[in-house]
Amino acid sequence: MTTKKHGFATRAIHDGQKPDELTGAVNVPIYLTSTYQQEEIGKNKGHEYARLTNPTRDALEESLCSLEGGTSAHVFGSGMAAITALCTMMKTGDHVVCSDNVYGGTGRLFDKVMTNYGLTFTYVDTSVAENVAAAIRPETKLVHIETPTNPMMAITDIAAVAAICHARGVELSVDNTFLSPYFQQPIALGADIVMHSTTKFLNGHSDGLGGVLVCTKPEHAERFRFVQKCTGGILSPFESYLLLRGVKTLAVRMKQHDANGRVVADFLKGHKAVERVFYPGLAEHPQHELAGRQQTGYGSMLSMELGSLERANTFAKSLKLCLLAESLGGVETLICHPATMTHAAVGAEGRARLGITDGLMRVSAGIEDVEDIVADLEQALDRLGS
Ligand SMILES: *Cc1c(COP(=O)(O)O)cnc(C)c1O
Repeated sequence: MTTKKHGFATRAIHDGQKPDELTGAVNVPIYLTSTYQQEEIGKNKGHEYARLTNPTRDALEESLCSLEGGTSAHVFGSGMAAITALCTMMKTGDHVVCSDNVYGGTGRLFDKVMTNYGLTFTYVDTSVAENVAAAIRPETKLVHIETPTNPMMAITDIAAVAAICHARGVELSVDNTFLSPYFQQPIALGADIVMHSTTKFLNGHSDGLGGVLVCTKPEHAERFRFVQKCTGGILSPFESYLLLRGVKTLAVRMKQHDANGRVVADFLKGHKAVERVFYPGLAEHPQHELAGRQQTGYGSMLSMELGSLERANTFAKSLKLCLLAESLGGVETLICHPATMTHAAVGAEGRARLGITDGLMRVSAGIEDVEDIVADLEQALDRLGS
């Protein structure tokens, strides 16, 4: 384990990723085992059964814990499995305040599954911190926010919301998927728990699902370790390895994602077929100043308004390099249509409330040569006329 004095890129390469003691192999091996031989009854080498611990997964948890500046990390089979584990902090009757523009799958889990167990949820626009204060009740246990939001790119002031939560004895969890720990450190801003879909930027190569909860308190570590063991939704050794490998290049990837995101946003803003661009790095974004203060980069997630479903589809069909696909945070540029893809389950009324129109397209700018990304977007937009 390196110490705090090392920089982010160094920790991403070394923390949790020590050479193998047995052979000196510089990469953490993939331990494909479900069980471990015990020396005698009651005596083992620290591992009993792979649902509880696996050395590849343990290494990954140490790595992610270091990158988010937490005290423990717990990985799960997907981002949704991590949020499901988060819900086990609650009991029947408990209440959660959540960002209204939260990831579609999160709202679906809360409303269609967790309400069956007596949990209640209130959705507010957390980009206005006072809305959080107004929504907290005596039975509120958790405030769960996402910033920037998907796909409208609204920013929530993490430190302001953390102060509101802590004054009321409520814990704050932050979905940090869109920026990764490279650009945003929620725990340093007061969050109690950071959640990620590691499927996105942390993995970075669109080749494995995963989720993590990074925590700050001993009771979190005890709870989520127990939940991994009890519910079994853990990350496989192979996908743990893919993440360990992906995380080593997180710093360089994020720098390039950010550089490309800025160029793509500027280009789209200047194209006559685009009515509006949502990107916190643009001076006209309503929370540009807050984003600049709270984040160390603007990242590569942005959305644009093309005016209608028909225009969005003409654009999507015309792409030759960028891929029309769900997901984000991969090395390749991924473009999606939130109304029919990520936010279909939200329903037309919900989408209208959030400003997710049929003409909105979301872009996850990859790390290809930016001229090639721009040229592809340009030829597809040129088919729309103005
Ligand atoms: C993808 C995503 C999730 C869900 O993660 P999975 O790994 O797909 O289960 C949660 N939050 C955000 C912001 C996401 O982008």
